[in-house]
Amino acid sequence: MNPHLYLLALGSNQRHPQFGRPRDVLEVALDLMAPDVGEVLARSPVITSAPVGPSQRQYANGAAVVASKWAPCDMLVALQAVEQAMGRKRMGQRWRSRTLDLDIILWSGGIVAEQDLQIPHPRFRERTFVLGPAAAIAPDWRDPVTGLTVKQLHARLTRKRPVPR
Ligand code: ATP
Ligand code: CA
Ligand code: CA
Repeated sequence: MNPHLYLLALGSNQRHPQFGRPRDVLEVALDLMAPDVGEVLARSPVITSAPVGPSQRQYANGAAVVASKWAPCDMLVALQAVEQAMGRKRMGQRWRSRTLDLDIILWSGGIVAEQDLQIPHPRFRERTFVLGPAAAIAPDWRDPVTGLTVKQLHARLTRKRPVPR
């Protein structure tokens, strides 16, 4: 019924007037996915991470595996509708404070290289706030670009390095 699998990254760093704290926003967003966006097969624990870019507020981050009927471009549209339903305003500036950010990290169909959509997500390999939650629910999912699993990518980022002198 739902032929495609997606690994999504979720982020929020703003309270929602109705739904509450960023971590609650993520839970509500996942509750909103069925039936239009897809079926949520797994949700990671929510973590708290430092902000990226100009915003100073902490983020709540999580990951989910969703089975969907939508091909990637339609999936992105569906996810942007959920972002908007949760009060996100697109004002042009990337990385601004937002109620909800939904990114496609991987999908079951391999590589997508469109103008407005790149899968794998171009920056996910450097982000512990993506790979940590993702490794909790999809450790063996393989990145088609590097050939490494999510667990391996996470380990590569988090293993101890010698202190530079
Ligand atoms: P980042 O992509 O570094 O996490 P961001 O999530 O803050 O930054 P947005 O402003 O949410 O960036 O999105 C900018 C554009 O990125 C979107 O309009 C979308 O077209 C594009 N995009 C490209 N690849 C993806 C992807 N894999 N998932 C979601 N959006 C993507
Ligand atoms: Ca993002
Ligand atoms: Ca985004």
